[in-house]
Amino acid sequence: MSEHEPLGPLSPDFLESDFFGYQGMLDDDEIEVVLRTRRFLQDEVAPRANEFWEKAVSPVHLMPQIAELEIAGLGYAFDDRKASRKLLTGWLEMEFARVDPSTGTMFSVHSSLAMSSISILGSDEQRARWLPAMRRMETIGAFGLSEPHGGSDVAGGLETTARLDGDHWILNGSKRWIGNATFADLTIVFAKDEADGEVKGFVVEKEFEGFRADKIEGKYSLRAVENADVHLENCRVPVANKLADANSFADTAKVLRLTRGGVAFQAVGVMMGAYERAVAYAREREQFGAPIASFQLISDLIARMTANITASLGMAIRVAQLQGNGIHHDEHAALAKTFCTTRLREVVGWAREIMGGNGILIENDVIRFFADAEALYSYEGTAQINNLIVGRGVTGFSAFV
Ligand SMILES: Cc1cc2nc3c(=O)[nH]c(=O)nc-3n(C[C@H](O)[C@H](O)[C@H](O)COP(=O)(O)OP(=O)(O)OC[C@H]3O[C@@H](n4cnc5c(N)ncnc54)[C@H](O)[C@@H]3O)c2cc1C
Repeated sequence: MSEHEPLGPLSPDFLESDFFGYQGMLDDDEIEVVLRTRRFLQDEVAPRANEFWEKAVSPVHLMPQIAELEIAGLGYAFDDRKASRKLLTGWLEMEFARVDPSTGTMFSVHSSLAMSSISILGSDEQRARWLPAMRRMETIGAFGLSEPHGGSDVAGGLETTARLDGDHWILNGSKRWIGNATFADLTIVFAKDEADGEVKGFVVEKEFEGFRADKIEGKYSLRAVENADVHLENCRVPVANKLADANSFADTAKVLRLTRGGVAFQAVGVMMGAYERAVAYAREREQFGAPIASFQLISDLIARMTANITASLGMAIRVAQLQGNGIHHDEHAALAKTFCTTRLREVVGWAREIMGGNGILIENDVIRFFADAEALYSYEGTAQINNLIVGRGVTGFSAFV
């Protein structure tokens, strides 16, 4: 065994797990946003993340502090924000996930899924009506697409219906897994129009009669995200709440095309969180009279984890750049989402392994990242579904059944 000074981050304010120093690709003002978000996560979220997880309650009380960071809806052009900051948005998703994937998902369901639905599919009037308060996080959003019988095949198998009745739409059906819906002020609900069979989008406000959200209990991944079974029973939605440009599933897919790239960044963040703890542990933990970091087999795992994080972050960044340039296809986000969440499963497993028995104690955090990785792997399109999208794009043959 010989000892060397670790390489460390390329710049003092870079993360140790950012091996290639990708943070240097952000502008100075973006780095400022990143650093203040990182400080908030370190001071306010990290000390309590395990408690949130064990209690399985969303840390809704953090919303006002997150609002002060002025980061909600950054990635979407609306009102005074003409430039969309895709790289910064993704980077922030990574920073949240590195500390607490649950808090990160709670935030991104609002800031990404719900806000982008209105931003992309709403009229100018609808954007002006909801987005400013959502940006200030005074109005919190949820996104209701998945159903009890419609997960992967939600495009064709949507069962929730919408019927136009005078100046209202009548919604009937159930949604499943809807994050934030237990406390959100509004939920974007996708339903099939009985008249033309097309999937349309609606902003359903929590006080609308016929809307109910029941928390799903017994969830052991992203425990501090409240996911709900949403019930719509003759729920009357004013015509003004029908999203103007949400008129087919192809429109819905425009939202997923953007947000799947965000899940790639989340996956990198979870990898970083687990990796940083495993590396610190490997330096400290001694067996056979030496730090376990000095063993070749541990060094091999650490190098592989470093490679997974570095490759995944490069891929996520490129997808963000493509989004920013407006030349971004479903296949790009699908590839990044699946690649990064697959590498994620390897990294959290290896991090857990390096920490031996201590890796399964919640006080060491890694088991929380390990469990949270499973939700990321499945949500916003499973590996199989995203690979089918990529395969179809590469070969021109659809292998969907
Ligand atoms: C924690 C969490 C949070 C979520 N949050 C939200 C939310 O806020 N809003 C929302 O709308 N949804 C949400 N979802 C739902 C999520 O998007 C779905 O779980 C996901 O799309 C998969 O659907 P499913 O769970 O019904 O699995 P299924 O579709 O039943 O799939 C089961 C398995 O079969 C495989 N499979 C299915 N079809 C094929 C095929 N054709 N070929 C090969 N394999 C196939 C899948 O890949 C998977 O492995 C969330 C889910 C989770 C777990």
